[in-house]
Order: sequence, then structure tokens, then C-alpha cells
Amino acid sequence: MIIIMERSATEENILAVKNILEEHGFRAIVHVGDVHTVIDALGDKTTLSPSRLETLEGVNQVKLIREPYRMASRDRKEEDTVIEFENGVKIGGANRPVFMVGPCSVEDDYEGLLKVAVAAKEMGCQFLRGGAFKPRTSPYDFDGLGEKALKYLAQAKKETGLLVVTELMDSTDLDLVCKYADIIQIGARNMQNFRLLKAVGKCDKPIVLKRGPASTIREFLLAAEHIMYNGNEKVILCERGIKGFDSSFTRNVLDIAAVPVIKKYSHLPIIIDPSHGTGQRYLIEPMAKAGLVAGADGVMVEVHHNPAQAMSDGKQSLSIPQFKEVFGKLNLLIDTLHLEKNNNNQIKEA
Ligand code: PEP
Ligand code: MN
Repeated sequence: MIIIMERSATEENILAVKNILEEHGFRAIVHVGDVHTVIDALGDKTTLSPSRLETLEGVNQVKLIREPYRMASRDRKEEDTVIEFENGVKIGGANRPVFMVGPCSVEDDYEGLLKVAVAAKEMGCQFLRGGAFKPRTSPYDFDGLGEKALKYLAQAKKETGLLVVTELMDSTDLDLVCKYADIIQIGARNMQNFRLLKAVGKCDKPIVLKRGPASTIREFLLAAEHIMYNGNEKVILCERGIKGFDSSFTRNVLDIAAVPVIKKYSHLPIIIDPSHGTGQRYLIEPMAKAGLVAGADGVMVEVHHNPAQAMSDGKQSLSIPQFKEVFGKLNLLIDTLHLEKNNNNQIKEA
């Protein structure tokens, strides 16, 4: 790390920083500049945290040379992480981008869910998504069917062969959700629920980690790091939009650039969610395309058999005919981009 001193820092201030660094096993090289004095600190920063140094008298700022996420970083692992499922589906690397589709909430209408799952299968999707435990902004809104929804998802999996993605909100439900899910989703609101990240870090299911609405990419990668540090390296990042200043047309700002940025700095797969990213049905197609062109390893989209009657997020859900039209085009785009180096994600008949 590099410690930049204040213009007004005294020789005593500089010496105090040098001493504390050396006490913690660092080599400290002091460069006295015309304006600022800068100290190069060479050593293991786990022995002395940058925030502790920042509290010392005369210190202006501490800059890290290496990113604080280690396990998630490209520096540590050059090749892309590929996550493989029981039926041979793979996420990441050179594999064909995957599709995760389904209603925002699983509702008490199994036939409706099955209609979506059958259409999803027909369009070459690999995953059925749907919330059983829903984080809702208002306590008066529908917050999910709980285990009944998980059973519906399991039944739809049995009938179609699609793998199940569903959200975990509380670690007390971990065993229950693990029983039914192929991927556990950690929602945007819980991206920095560190106890929850620790809990899923100790299980062996792949995790879709959604980016917090007000999180930087660094915070996003550090949230993934929490899961990995606790033992689970099967993390799939999901860009789902961040808060912007203009919500007059879109719910969030889908940060497409986050895809290539994350590809540069991390080996983890990243998917894109244009439903939550925009809040608008008509924006799903263009933003899904943009995400794929930017290099996303998959797309998550909300699809409902009757969006006008959906218990949550109907406005950003495709109807089944709309879904077929849009995903037909996404499949074509993937083919024309030659994104598929192998086609092993087109699952066989159940
Ligand atoms: C969802 O996927 O339905 C959801 C609630 O997503 P997010 O956490 O991104 O808001
Ligand atoms: Mn939703």
C-alpha cells in the first residue's frame, strides 16, 4: 500500500507512520516530495489495516495497490470459473450463455407456473426462477408462499428438467431452500447481509449473488469474496441495475459496463437481469441483447403466464408469447455472435 501524507504533516507524523509500519513487519520507504510525502509500505496488509493507518495524525489517504478481494480476483485465478450442474449445464467460460426465466413470485397457481416452465424448456432455457420468500418494500405486499412455492418449483423441475433458482432471505431457511434449489439466489437487498453470505458460504450449492442497488463493483466483488472465503467458490454474479437519479422512465440503471469490468478483474461468471435492471417489459429485449454483446454468461428475465395479474413485478415480466419472441431473437443473437464455443447447454428432452 501507499500512504500519502497531508501537506501539513510534520516529521514526527511521518516517523510515527514509519514506526508503526515497521512494528508490523512492513518495509517503509519514505519519498519526500515538494508537496506531499509518500510512504511505500511493502508487506502483508492483513497485519495492519489501511483504515487504522488512516486514523493516524498527518495521514491524508491510504491507497491499496492490490484489490482487497483475493479469491474472486483474476490475479489469483486467470482462467474463467465454470460452474457445472448435475445435467451437464455449465455457466461461465466459453459455454453458451444460460437463460433463467420465470415469475417474480411463485404464486398459488401451479398450472400457471408450469405453462411458463414448458415454454422455457421449449425455448432452450436451462433454469426456472421464482421466489418463494420475497423481499418486499412494503409489508402489505405479497411476500411469497414459502415451502409450498418450493414444492411447486420442484414439481415443475420434475416435469420439464429445468433447474431451479430461488431466493434465500434468512439463514434459518437455508436447509429448506437447499432441499429444493439448484441455485440459491441472494437478492440485491441482501448483498451486504454478511451473516447470510457467511451461511451460504458454508453450503455447497451454487449462488447467484445480485448486485446491491447502491453498491459499487468493488463492494459487489467483496460480497462474493465473503461467500468464497467461507468455503463456497461457486458464485455467479448478477448485474440487476443500480439506483440512478432519473427514475422517470426506468426503475434502475442497468450497468452494462459492469459485465466487461467484472470479466477483467474477476474470473467469476456474470449474468444480467434486464427485468429488475429497467423495470420495463419493452426494455428487456434491447438490454438483454446489450448484456450478451458485452459478454454476459447468462440472462435472467421475469416471465409470467398473465403479467397483468402478477402478484409482483408484472410490469417488468414478459407474457409467454412475448417471451418466445424475445428469446427466439436472443438465441439467434447468441448464434450469430458465435458466443457458443460448445453447445452443451442445450438440454435434452426430460
Ligand atoms: C427477484 O429476482 O425477484 C428480486 C427480488 O431481485 P432483486 O433482488 O434483484 O431485486
Ligand atoms: Mn422480481
